[in-house]
Amino acid sequence: MALEVPFEGGCMCGALRYRCAEAPAMTLCCHCTDCQRRTGAAFGITVSVNTSAFSILKGETTSWLSIRQSGSKLLFQSCAVCGTRCWGDLPDIPESTLILGGTLNVAISLEPSAHIYTATKQPWVSIPDNIYEAENKPDWRKVFSS
Ligand SMILES: [Zn+2]
Ligand SMILES: [Zn+2]
Repeated sequence: MALEVPFEGGCMCGALRYRCAEAPAMTLCCHCTDCQRRTGAAFGITVSVNTSAFSILKGETTSWLSIRQSGSKLLFQSCAVCGTRCWGDLPDIPESTLILGGTLNVAISLEPSAHIYTATKQPWVSIPDNIYEAENKPDWRKVFSS
C-alpha cells in the first residue's frame, strides 16, 4: 500500500493536525537511544519532507530544542494539549521538516529506505536484507539515494 499524496497526520487528541502536499524525500528508522527514549518504543520513524509542502491545518504547538552531541539541532513540535510530538524543524536546514512517522493517518503505508544506529537496535527487531543499514552515523548520500 503506497503512501497517497497529499497525506495528513496529527496528535493523539486531534487538536494538532498537519498536511503534506508532496511525497517524502526520505523515510528512515532510527534505532539510536535518543529515538528509543523520545518514542518509548524500539525505534523512531523519521519522514523527511520539503518544508514548502508542509502546513499546519489546526492546533497550537509547544517546542523543545534538542541538541545532539554532534551539534545538530532539532526543534521538536508537540501538541500543546496532549503533548504528542508530531514533527521537528531543523534550525540549520529550514528547507526540510522531519515528520514523526507514527503520527501519519496511514503510517502503515510508509516504506523506510534505511535503518540507522542499528548498533543499539533491540535484538528482536529484524531488518530486511535489501535495505541500507548503518550501525552508527549513516552515509547520508546512501540514505537519500536508496
Ligand atoms: Zn493533541
Ligand atoms: Zn535516532
